[in-house]
Amino acid sequence: MSDVKVRFAPSPTGWMHIGNTRTAVFNWLLAKKLGGKFLLRIDDTDVLRSKKEYEEAILDVLVWLGLNWDEQARQSERIVRYDEVVAKLKDEGRIYACYETAEELEVMRKKLMAQGRPPIYDRGALKLTKEDVARYEAEGRKPHYRFKLLPGAIEWDDMVRGRIHYDAANLADPVIIREDGSYLYHLPSVIDDVDFGITHIIRGEDHVTNTAAQIQMFEALAGKSPIFAHLPLLTGKEGKLSKRLGSLGVRELRAEGVENLAICSFLAKLGTSEAIEPFNDLTSLAESLDLTKLGRSQPKFDEQELKLFNSKFVRQMSFENVAERVSVKRDFWEAVKGNLDTVIEAEKWHKVCYEEIVPDMEDAELTAMAADLLPDEPWSENTYGEWMGLVKTHTDKKGKELFHPIRKALTAQDCGPELKILLPFIGRERAYNRLKGKKA
Ligand code: GLU
Repeated sequence: MSDVKVRFAPSPTGWMHIGNTRTAVFNWLLAKKLGGKFLLRIDDTDVLRSKKEYEEAILDVLVWLGLNWDEQARQSERIVRYDEVVAKLKDEGRIYACYETAEELEVMRKKLMAQGRPPIYDRGALKLTKEDVARYEAEGRKPHYRFKLLPGAIEWDDMVRGRIHYDAANLADPVIIREDGSYLYHLPSVIDDVDFGITHIIRGEDHVTNTAAQIQMFEALAGKSPIFAHLPLLTGKEGKLSKRLGSLGVRELRAEGVENLAICSFLAKLGTSEAIEPFNDLTSLAESLDLTKLGRSQPKFDEQELKLFNSKFVRQMSFENVAERVSVKRDFWEAVKGNLDTVIEAEKWHKVCYEEIVPDMEDAELTAMAADLLPDEPWSENTYGEWMGLVKTHTDKKGKELFHPIRKALTAQDCGPELKILLPFIGRERAYNRLKGKKA
């Protein structure tokens, strides 16, 4: 085992959607590829918005996707540790108390914007005298706290975006503790990444600016930073992240019959220079991982494309991969899979073939005649063609006029797998009765 360790750090403030699933997939695959570990960290410092049901759903989805974790942590259980680090950073002058109200900050922000200047906090709090602070405290104001950035360049080599440069002068000191004493995301995340020995952080590019500030936190705490990879965010078809996409739940996709490995295969290759192909196990998908193949532009995520890919995925699945989930036998699976969009549809066609149906009689005369021409068993995939050849010599009907009534009588469905495939499973007796209009 290498010393590589990654983490997936969801906030349990919503359902697992396609965007954070993609982050989880990339982290997991990188750990697997490099022989490292995967930590699941629940970022639940926001007590008001964090919900147990969201957390359970996240775990559920990860398990279903096969993204198992080696270790688990929860930020709400680590507050004592965060307080300890904060005390040290306060002593070192890297964390300072601020007394501005939200309204005052907003006024300052607007003023700067009106002057055409970036809305960067002016560090007014560092100029407060003891008397100012005493006055604020007497007024009942509670401080919030900021992390003080040191001047200079902040640079890193991003596994996706290449060399990145920031000037600390263009960044505001991030607020790390709210007035009510609760922690914001930035610092706890860094403390955890240091304490848990995280070596690589893959997350969305919406975190790039956070990373710049966090690099100084990493340096203050550990003298070095992990390796970063910022993934271009997914966009919707229309160019911006649609509401549906932002909230497109993996649970819904699962309920609609999208395969776990189809989702992982799709997300791992979307926006890369590689073709999206089915991978039937996560290990081979991990071996194929190459973050340098990710483009810089935001990939479009199209739910319809995923569904189409899912059909392709299902159609190449071996019986071994579905045997535990379906009641059909190997020969049936192999026969019908080429026509399925979801695995579970195999059950539907199994029922059509083996359980009683009420035939739909579109042309009773035609199908009754066809019934009398059914060949003797044993039947194979050639039977249908031979039988139809015979039927055609007894009627002028052809094309849809001929095939559709036969299909409706045999299956009571408008469309489906080819009849030459279904017919041997339906068998002569049932086929005969159905063609004659009897329940069978
Ligand atoms: N909880 C944070 C989020 O969901 C984690 C970000 C990170 O990976 O550092 O955005």
